[in-house]
Amino acid sequence: MMYVSTRGRAPRLSFEEAMLTGLARDGGLYLPETWPQMQPSEIAALAGLDYDEAAFRIMRPFTGDAFDDDELRGIIGRAYASFDHVARCPLVQIGANDWLLELFHGPTLAFKDVAMQLIGQMFETVLKRRGERVTIIGATSGDTGSAAIEAFRGLEAARVYILFPEGRVSEVQRRQMTTPSEANVQAIAVAGDFDDCQALVKDLFNDHEFRDEVRLGGVNSINWARVLAQTVYYFTAAVALGAPARSVSFTVPTGNFGDIFAGYVARRMGLPIDRLVIATNRNDILHRTLETGEHRREGVHPTISPSMDIEVSSNFERLLFELLDREGAAVIQLMDELKSGGFRLSQGALERLRTVFSSARADEAETAEAIARTWRETGEIVCPHTAVGLHAARVQRGDPARPMVTLATAHAAKFPDAVEAACGIRPRLPVRMADLFDRPERVTYVENNAEALKGLIRQGYTT
Ligand SMILES: *Cc1c(COP(=O)(O)O)cnc(C)c1O
Repeated sequence: MMYVSTRGRAPRLSFEEAMLTGLARDGGLYLPETWPQMQPSEIAALAGLDYDEAAFRIMRPFTGDAFDDDELRGIIGRAYASFDHVARCPLVQIGANDWLLELFHGPTLAFKDVAMQLIGQMFETVLKRRGERVTIIGATSGDTGSAAIEAFRGLEAARVYILFPEGRVSEVQRRQMTTPSEANVQAIAVAGDFDDCQALVKDLFNDHEFRDEVRLGGVNSINWARVLAQTVYYFTAAVALGAPARSVSFTVPTGNFGDIFAGYVARRMGLPIDRLVIATNRNDILHRTLETGEHRREGVHPTISPSMDIEVSSNFERLLFELLDREGAAVIQLMDELKSGGFRLSQGALERLRTVFSSARADEAETAEAIARTWRETGEIVCPHTAVGLHAARVQRGDPARPMVTLATAHAAKFPDAVEAACGIRPRLPVRMADLFDRPERVTYVENNAEALKGLIRQGYTT
């Protein structure tokens, strides 16, 4: 299996190379050259398997010769051993034919763990074999950074630096980044906002000499291996609800479009998914695209579902590539137009988009109301991102005979203030994390200055 760039001007790469590279050299995102197919009998055979074995069967066709079977099974087993639920991603019933898919049983209580834990083990296996080390650097507004630190802590082949805006992440998020004590992971507080952190990371990547010197790599949401890991739970959930004999719909709280694109991948592989509902908060570029065909940037508004506060969804480029018959040149043109504000989809592309995807948007009041209603009707306490999903699932419910699964992307205790304000209950951290507020913190401070940051990283690389 080889991988191609959405912009058509970068070399084709193996799974291993695409994973280590992240972003393609032409600025595009990697996708498999063809979609592996799962026959109905193979999908049916997933019923009753444990999550790790299902993950093995679903991901195997994509990883090529990067891993032999035992290696891949070992990677999956180590990745998900840190989850506190034997089912890894359990389903919870919240209505006659409505379900929550709980993706927050990993170490940082958000769905990013599902992909990041796997990627950590994949990097370690590949790099050890190659006798190489990499430096991973990322900027975070909260969930991604802690998931990366948890995934790589204590591994040998990677040093991880996560930049976060000082004073602008929640206390739980900060402590999840600052309490791991392993020397190879460091949380770095930047005197600035999230955009400053991102700009610093970009500066470092754009300095090609420095990039080669410390073997800089990224694990952000455009990394193909992350999307692949997320494809698995669409299969396990649909099969538990009767696939392949029955089709299932999913509603996905969406920011960068990575999670919902994984659902699209499952559908392309043959899983009978009826609708994929894009749920946005008031940062609704994708909802507007579905409604009008116009994909236009409008700035970012802060909300109570901060992990979805984005102006542009980076993984949407992958879907565009598919909608445009895999014409790299056409993707390049739209991405150029997006830089100067936005673009309009052709009527044909818009119709194809609407055959699979629906969308709905929740404003702040609707998000809070969804938290309160879910608590009243089911006794479940959901996080604000999940609540955006539940609102959208109601708006776009469709045929009541078809199961609707809403992805629960974070544990409510990660966002206790918003949840308490909405339903009057202050969610508590799971028991295994109850001592988070007692653990010692370790933070490195840097000036908002690329040279200072490079100095710090060089020091780490040579020791
Ligand atoms: C990252 C995140 C999302 C959005 O996921 P995308 O893959 O970026 O669309 C939704 N909810 C939570 C809690 C997240 O951390």
